[in-house]
Order: sequence, then structure tokens, then C-alpha cells
Amino acid sequence: MLKIYNTETRKKEAITLAEGEKLLKMYTCGPTIYNYAHIGNFRTYVFEDLLRRTLKYFAFPLKQVMNLTDVEDKTILAAKEKGIPLREHTKIYKEAFFEDLKTLGIEPAEIYSPATDYVPEMIAMIETLIKKGYAYQGQDQGVYYSIKHFPSYGRLSHLKLDDLQTGASERLTHDEYDKESASDFVLWKPYDPERDGEVFWDSPFGKGRPGWHVECSAMATKLLGETIDIHVGGVDNIFPHHENEIAQSEGCTGKHFVRHWIHAEHLIVDGKKMSKSLGNFFTLRDLLAKGYTGPEVRYLLLSTHYRTQLNFTLEGLEAARQTLNRLRDFIRRLRSAKAQEGGSVASYLEKAQKTFKEALSDDLNISSALAALFDLIRPINALIDASKMTAQEGQNVLFFLKDLDCVLGVLPLEEEVVEIPPEVQKAFEKREVARKAKNWEEADKERDFIHAKGYQIEDSPEGSRVIKSTG
Ligand SMILES: [Zn+2]
Repeated sequence: MLKIYNTETRKKEAITLAEGEKLLKMYTCGPTIYNYAHIGNFRTYVFEDLLRRTLKYFAFPLKQVMNLTDVEDKTILAAKEKGIPLREHTKIYKEAFFEDLKTLGIEPAEIYSPATDYVPEMIAMIETLIKKGYAYQGQDQGVYYSIKHFPSYGRLSHLKLDDLQTGASERLTHDEYDKESASDFVLWKPYDPERDGEVFWDSPFGKGRPGWHVECSAMATKLLGETIDIHVGGVDNIFPHHENEIAQSEGCTGKHFVRHWIHAEHLIVDGKKMSKSLGNFFTLRDLLAKGYTGPEVRYLLLSTHYRTQLNFTLEGLEAARQTLNRLRDFIRRLRSAKAQEGGSVASYLEKAQKTFKEALSDDLNISSALAALFDLIRPINALIDASKMTAQEGQNVLFFLKDLDCVLGVLPLEEEVVEIPPEVQKAFEKREVARKAKNWEEADKERDFIHAKGYQIEDSPEGSRVIKSTG
């Protein structure tokens, strides 16, 4: 049974399919595509990928939707500053986002939904909310959600509505605000030619554009239905974004909106909040430019439990690199196992598999899951050292690692294409000739040269070849 912490109930709860449903429906709040996503964003997306892969590992058929916020305050402003149309601007960062996902080994969601493709659904939702008395049109022609009409407002973030009334006298037109200023929030922003330029839609409430919060409610309902199983995001989405999504969706449909809310904690850098002014702000591209790889960044983002704040440092990234190198060596050694008689590999694998799955089932306990993998390395290496692992057993361990990697998505399991330097290749050929002529002295001399260069010769019934030395 897979149990995950539910932000709303504050308990670890079993993930289940809804009655009569065959698919697990998951909505993940996606990026605002006005700039390159930063590593704080990617902490959440890598976690969501770990969650997605774990759900599949536990045999849940899954439908995941991730929205792409391609119209809101920041996006419009960024396009305006560049002096290009909104669509042209967002296209650049949408493509960059998908490239970054690939670099980090993040599996694609079943559906990516750009907000601008669903404006009619947003308008319909706002109309329903007005009809049902949850929303009203203000003097400024904007449409606002009246939080006092939704009694359970605050239940996700565990705030009492009374405490939220402090700022209720003013209505909020911005998409983002903090707890202190909770109040009626905007569903439809009236057109402001100064601010919006060419960006507007016609609606029964006049020219304008949807607020950010209603974008997610409308897309989730349209693409996944009135009740969805899992809704994921970063902790900074809990309030006001997800709180507002509940108010909008439940106000509109009268149904329970989300069965299971899951949130990933923040990422900080060198113990401080990441910010451009502190000079500790990194996009994925900044790290690639420093010579780090996608898997190294993924490993670092993955290896801290999602409900713990992650302190990102370059030393941590260096450690991730070493860990992956260690695993790469281990995998190479497994491929080279060829003892005549084997030993006790099966029992180690059985135990590791059990530990791995149990760890994941307990709120994605990633440290224990990774420990199951690392605890294998020492005894298995000892078996290889003692020539007690057959090629078949080496393969079995590799199959096991492939299985773990369905969840982790980070192990260096691809067969490496090693470029053999020409002088090593030449020495290898000379050794082959010397061996055929039974000139053992010459053959050994070439072999020693190859070793000294960091390579070794693997002899097998199919013939000999040069490989990179291990360990
Ligand atoms: Zn959202």
C-alpha cells in the first residue's frame, strides 16, 4: 500500500483509485513560461516525476496533466519589455522548458495544457460562479470571488476565515499575494490597454483576461473531471493558489475537488533564499554551463525527502557526481562478472527489492530507498572480487537496477561507448598479432602499455577487446 502525506488532512493516507474509476487522475501546477525555470522550480518538477514513476511502480494507471501558464501578469510584462507578441515570447520558454525536462530525465505528462487554449472554459466557470452567488462584478468591471460565501475557505492551508478577513476590505487584482492580505480575489481582469496591449479576450463581463487561479481550476475540471485524485505543487502554491482553486472548483461544481493534496518543500541555496540579488540564483542552464550534467542535478534534487527543505550547494552537486561515478563503476564491474560458479546474489536482491518498495510506500522515503541500493554495492563487489559471480548473476543485478531506475530515473545504465585512443588501439592490435605468433613477451609488453594508459583487455570466447579499466 502506497501512503503519502495529504496536506489537507495532515495525515499519511493510502493512494487509491476512486470508486468505479480505472485511472488515477493527477494535476500538477506547471511553470509560468515567462523565463527559464530555476532549480527551485525543478525541485518540485523532479519530485513530481518521482511521484509519477512511483505511482506507476505501484501499478496505478495514470493520467497526469500539467498546465503551462502562458498568460498572467509576469508573462505579459516580460513580452512587453522585449517588444514582441506574447505568443512569440512564451514559445521560446515553452521549448526551453521541455528541453530542461528532458535533460533532467523527467517523464512527459500525458497532457500539457497551455492556459490560452482554455479561455472559453474559464469564462464558463466564472459565469457559473456569478450565477451561484460566489462571484460578483466590481465597479472596475473585474470579476471577483467572494471568499465569505465559501465557508470552508482556508481549510487546505489550515487558516481560519476570521483571521483572513484582515485585508477583506480591499479586493485583490494581483495573482500572487500572501496570507496577511487574503481577501476577495480576481477571476477576470478588466482590460487595461496600458498594461495588456494586444492581450485580451471578449467575454460576457467585458474585454479582459482570466486571473491565474481560475486557469488551473478550469483546466483541471475540463481535462480530468470534477473530482481529481491527486493535486501536486510546491508549498508556496498552498496559499493562495490552491486554496483559491478549491473555492472556485467546489463553488462551481458542488463536488469535492481534490482527494489528495501533495506539496514539495522549498529549495534554498547555501542556507539562504535563492534570489538574483544575492547572486545565488541558478537556472538548470547555469549549472550545465558550469559542467554539471542533468543526471547529477536530478540526483541532488531527488535525494532529499520532498517534505524537507533542500539546501542546494555546489559541494552537494559535486557529491552527487561522485555518487553517480561510484554507481557507474559498480555497473561496469557487474558487466564484467564471469566466474564459473556463483553465490548468494539472489538473496541480496530479494532483500533490497523489499526494502526499496517499503521505503517508497512510506511517503516516498527516498533516503531509505537509496540506502537499499547502496547497501547492495559492498557485498556484491565482494562477490565479484572473490570470483563468485557468474555473468548471468551480473545480468540479474543489472535487471534489478533497471527496475529501480524505473523510479529513480538517474542510474548510469546505458552501455558506455568508450573512445579508445589510437595508441591504445594500436597496442591492442600488436598484442593480438604477438599472441597469434606465440610471442608472449611482446604480447605482455603491449598489455602492460594498455594498462598504464588506463585500459584493460577483456578476453572472452567471442574474442578480445579493449575496455576502460574499472576501479
Ligand atoms: Zn495551478
